[in-house]
Amino acid sequence: MAMPFDEFGRPFIILREQEQKTRLRGLDAQKPNIAAGKAVARILRTSLGPKGMDKVLQSPDGEVTINVCWDEIDVFMVPANDGATILEQMDVDNKIAKLMVELSRSQDYEIGDGTTGVVVMAGALLEHAHKLLERGIHPIRIAEGYEMASRVAVDHLECISHKFEFSATNVESLIHTCMTTLSSKIVNRCKRSLAEIAVKAVLAVADLERKDVNLDLIKVEGKVGGKLEDTELIYGIVVDKDMSHPQMPKHIEDAKIAILTCPFEPPKPKTKHKVDIDTVEKFQTLRQQEQKYFDDMVQKCKKVAKDVGATLVICQWGFDDEANHLLMHRDLPAVRWVGGVELELIAIATVSNDICVFCVRWENCAKISRVDTREAGQGNKMMIEETKRSLHDALCVARNLIRNNSIVYGGGSAEISCSIAVDAAADKYPGVEQYAIRAFADALDAVPMALAENSGLQPIETLSAVKSQQIKENNSGCGIDCNDVGTNDMREQNVFETLIGKQQQILLSTQVVKMILKIDDVISPSEF
Ligand code: ADP
Repeated sequence: MAMPFDEFGRPFIILREQEQKTRLRGLDAQKPNIAAGKAVARILRTSLGPKGMDKVLQSPDGEVTINVCWDEIDVFMVPANDGATILEQMDVDNKIAKLMVELSRSQDYEIGDGTTGVVVMAGALLEHAHKLLERGIHPIRIAEGYEMASRVAVDHLECISHKFEFSATNVESLIHTCMTTLSSKIVNRCKRSLAEIAVKAVLAVADLERKDVNLDLIKVEGKVGGKLEDTELIYGIVVDKDMSHPQMPKHIEDAKIAILTCPFEPPKPKTKHKVDIDTVEKFQTLRQQEQKYFDDMVQKCKKVAKDVGATLVICQWGFDDEANHLLMHRDLPAVRWVGGVELELIAIATVSNDICVFCVRWENCAKISRVDTREAGQGNKMMIEETKRSLHDALCVARNLIRNNSIVYGGGSAEISCSIAVDAAADKYPGVEQYAIRAFADALDAVPMALAENSGLQPIETLSAVKSQQIKENNSGCGIDCNDVGTNDMREQNVFETLIGKQQQILLSTQVVKMILKIDDVISPSEF
């Protein structure tokens, strides 16, 4: 990096070891940044939509984490289609590429779905920004134009959205929206049953008055063995543990549960100690004392909480064989090594703040549901992980609809409609921003084009046909017929997305692109 000099010709230092740093400024700084963002988007582009491809990535220790095409690749590989997951595993090094990873993560965090689409959109915005930069338009004007266009698009989405009426008894609309999310995942073949599970689980814990859903109350648990079709929803809490002693009863009804967050054993002295046992009597005394101690503990459990008496002990820690034996003999069945989260859920389910003895029914106890996803046979743990991720997306979609029951149509139709609206709005801006607004409209076309391309259709031809159909029929529901159903009306195909999810995609991608465009100075350590 060139050394700066003051007016007397003396060099001065601004950055530590500045002579060892390289510096890129202006367009030279922006271009590599844009290229890095575009490169990430290009990777994800082929994963978009119901016919999107999966990816294979190999970790440094040789384990394959993501595969390219589930059907063709050995089952020991992990299939993943979710944009956030692919980026998470990619071990991205470049700073701007990391921003794209963050972008996908934010969409996942806020909405839970649309993680691929948001990156594809950002990539397209960067690509068009690049062209405008080459034409000499200042990055700030591009950023401002994008901002204006994103506001037009978000408002337009509101105009073309529809309210989805649902109630506890009529959940068909919720199920269809969840099915749209699942249709692009590997679990596609069971999308109806998984969508039903997701909707029922969300409704079980939803507060419909406050329009809020606490997804922490839903646990998705995977188990190797069985098939995807075996997935079931369990109202209650599943603690996947055996009884601590094989002879303890396996079936307990109307249990009164004592939850212990302490170990079931005598307290250990903190000081160093030594016990000399040189006679049989001494040994027996010690043994009796220990037994008495355990006996007291067992009695306490059976009598605590106003003499209600526990009929089942759930312990966060372990207990030794002696205690276990005694518990069995004193008819107090127990489960040990139960995780803290599970204990908390049991506490919530049994509606008590204290961890002590509860007097409630074990089943039907609370609005906590647990989805059991089982996929194995030829499948494996990795498949279960992908199923869990897909279910998470479906749960998020159902939650979003409960928060705000507006939907827009999918299959790229919403993007095409926004593109037309943004393009029309561009004329109203007399300044240079107009170019950026038009570029934004073109970038919106990237999603339907990718959907068409990934489904083996001619992207430009298909897009222009659908666009003109939307204008001619004044129908914002026309999109890409990815599955070759015979109609491109997404309303008929039941392909929906949540309004807030789509709006978030546009807002987040615009923010990230604006951030990248505003970087005009990159100072990095020199290569040597
Ligand atoms: P993301 O991670 O962004 O949700 P997906 O790979 O799940 O990406 O693809 C979502 C896109 O696929 C959305 O634009 C959605 O509208 C579209 N899509 C889903 N199902 C269909 C379908 N049956 N026909 C056409 N488009 C669909």
